Order: sequence, then C-alpha cells, then structure tokens
Amino acid sequence: MVKAPKNIAVIGATGSIGTQTLDIINNHPELYHASVIAAGSRVDDLIRLALIHRPALAVIADQSKYTTLHEALSPLGIATACGDQALCEAVCRPDVDMVVTATVGYSGLAPTIAAIKADKDIALANKETLVVAGQYITDLLSHSKSKVYPVDSEHSAIYQCLQGENHSDVSRLIITASGGPFRTWSAEQIAKATASDALRHPNWSMGAKITIDSASMMNKAFEIIEAKWLFGFDADKIVAVVHPQSIVHSMVEFNDGAIKAQLGLPDMKLPIAYALGEGQRLAGAEKQLSIADFATLTFERPDPSRFPCLSLAHEALTSGGNSACIINAANEIAVASFLNGRIGFGDIYRVIERTLSTIDHIAAPDYEDYVSTNREARKFASSIC
Ligand code: NDP
Ligand code: MG
Repeated sequence: MVKAPKNIAVIGATGSIGTQTLDIINNHPELYHASVIAAGSRVDDLIRLALIHRPALAVIADQSKYTTLHEALSPLGIATACGDQALCEAVCRPDVDMVVTATVGYSGLAPTIAAIKADKDIALANKETLVVAGQYITDLLSHSKSKVYPVDSEHSAIYQCLQGENHSDVSRLIITASGGPFRTWSAEQIAKATASDALRHPNWSMGAKITIDSASMMNKAFEIIEAKWLFGFDADKIVAVVHPQSIVHSMVEFNDGAIKAQLGLPDMKLPIAYALGEGQRLAGAEKQLSIADFATLTFERPDPSRFPCLSLAHEALTSGGNSACIINAANEIAVASFLNGRIGFGDIYRVIERTLSTIDHIAAPDYEDYVSTNREARKFASSIC
C-alpha cells in the first residue's frame, strides 16, 4: 500500500530554515506535503510560497497583513488566518503530522507548547524555545506523545552520534562552533564591529538574528542550553570547541575514550531532512563532502574573555529557573538595537548582564512567569539600549 505524504506545518516558512524545509518538501512530494505555512509579517513572500505549495492553510502573525493574504489566497481555496492564537491553533489541526518550528526568538515558544499539548511531532529549529523554558518543555513532553527531532546542525550531529549508544556510556557532548567572523579579532576590534562585519558569517548563510548570535557566540551558549534539555546531560558534560571549517558538526565522547563525530558540508538541508524523516536518511544529497578537500580540520579552545556571552550558558544553567529566559529576552532586544545602530557590538553582553542582574529570579517558573519575565526583561533591556 502506498503511504500518504506526511503533512507538515512549517511555521517561519519565509525564513532561512523555513524556505530550505519547503525546498525539501517540494523535492519529495511522495513523502511530504506542506499543509500549513506561517510567517511573521512578510506577506508577499508567504503568498508566493502558498502559490507553490498549495497548503490547506496560510497564517500570518501580523494582523495588519491579513487582508492582503486573504484576498490573494481565498480565490484559490486556501484558508487564511492571522495572529498569535491562530498560529497555535494551526499547528494543532488534525491534518498536521509534524510541526517544523522555524520562527525566530521567543515567538517559537507558544506554538511549540501548543504542538506538544496536541501530541504533534516536532522538528525543532527554534532553539530559543528550549533556552527560554527548557524545564517546562521537558515536563510537558514527558506527558505527551510528541517527539522532538533536532534541526540545529550541532544537535542533529549529536543525535546521529547517539544512535545505538547507551546514555550512561557518554562522558561529554562536544559542540563545535565556527568561531564566527570575529574568531581572530582582538577584543578592541570586536567591541567596535559594525552590523555588516557581524552579518558576514564565514561558513553559514542564516537569518540575521542567529548570524549576530554566532558572531557574539551567544548562539553557542544557547546551543549548550538546548543540548542539556534535548539530551538530558548535566551542563558540566557539555562543552564547546571552536572548529573554523564547520565540517565536524559536533561530537560525542564516551567513557572508553572513543569520540564519534558527524561530518558534512555546512548545509542545513541535511539536518532538516533528518528531522523530517524522524531519523531516517533521505537519499539524494545535492552535494557530497569531498573529504580530501578538507585535509586540515582544526580545533581550538574558545576564548571567553573576547566572547563573554559564551559563559552565560553555564551561568544560566547553574542558576536555573527563569535566568535563561531573561538572557534570551535581553539578547533579542540587544541584537535588534545593535542592528538598528542604537548600541555597539560590545554593548550586547553588557545589556544582557545588566538585565540579568536586575530582573527578579524565579526558581520554579510556570508558563505565566515565563511570559512576565520575557515582558519585564525586554522592557528593561529596551530602556538601557
Ligand atoms: P529567519 O529570520 O530567516 O526567519 C524567521 C522566520 O520566523 C520568518 O519566516 C519570519 O517571518 C518568522 N517570524 C518572525 N517573527 C514571527 C512571529 N512573531 N510569529 C510567527 N513567525 C514569525 O530565521 P532563521 O530561519 O535563520 O532561524 C529560525 C530559527 O532556527 C531560529 O530560532 C534559529 O536560531 C534557528 N536555527 C537557524 C539556523 C539557520 O541556518 N538559519 C541554524 C540552526 C538553528 P517573516 O519572514 O514574515 O518575518
Ligand atoms: Mg547551530
């Protein structure tokens, strides 16, 4: 019997991960269909994608763009909706088999929670969800049939290395970092870096926010937190190592001294496809890694004095509670302010640190506490930017 294609809800469809996900879906109509697509505010891009993929439903978060979306798609029989609540309802539809969370920042939290409560499988790109509310999400997952498949390349690599292994045999997760555009820059140069300097990532083409997070190494701090919640290892077993070629996507070290690594070109299509396939490989890579072309793979220790954001991961995990939620909110405001030219690159860390020491610590937050922490931290960070 021929199996029906799996119905995928792609939220953040117009972004870097979203469009790459839709490319994979488009190339494998026998396996996948985009039944829901959703975006923040780029309505023209969403309409263009809807014309190609013919989803059952297209959702735009920005309510002011709704009329444009509706007028373009309703003659084609494509249902439309708008607003944050519609996004949460869309991922719970009975015809959705898997949700790809490719929105950026805190906006990923509510739809991911809705998807877990509706027992939907998740291909998780939005790392901020686990940064903001890792404990809460882990508790929800323990009462849900929903399974989470990592999309982040480092976490996909670790997931691949852990296949067939015992959790108790693992001594460390080693997360690789490219080091970003400022890997070889002095602290003084980094402090004065411009937005165009920071947006010039050496190996990966990604959305603006994660590209700035990569330059500050906040992204690596977030990935350490993400790894803790995805794989259930203590923070002291998760380390970052700089690997400028971005060929080794991460490693797992075992108690017998073995280290397993996953290698590949820096191309998000592989981890996205691996997540869509729930750990099954999808044949037909567009490009293969020619290992002889990368005869030199180098590794170095990260430098927390030039990249202080990196140390925020272990600080957040040690203090627990709403700490990482505060850091995430302050970082979102600081990155947006840096991109708008309101603060310098060196101020990003200072904004986060001041916000973290100002906003009240909550040891065991519930959902409403995360909402209020995010609101208060953003307000304070905005006031000092
Ligand atoms: P982009 O900025 O390219 O895309 C973000 C997407 O989210 C867009 O579709 C955007 O819509 C949508 N969006 C923004 N705000 C909202 C909102 N309030 N409600 C609904 N949708 C919203 O980001 P990336 O694709 O680079 O990153 C997405 C996530 O994946 C991030 O969490 C990132 O950390 C993670 N990730 C990304 C990688 C990459 O290679 N890009 C690698 C690993 C992880 P619109 O276009 O309308 O603004
Ligand atoms: Mg990553």
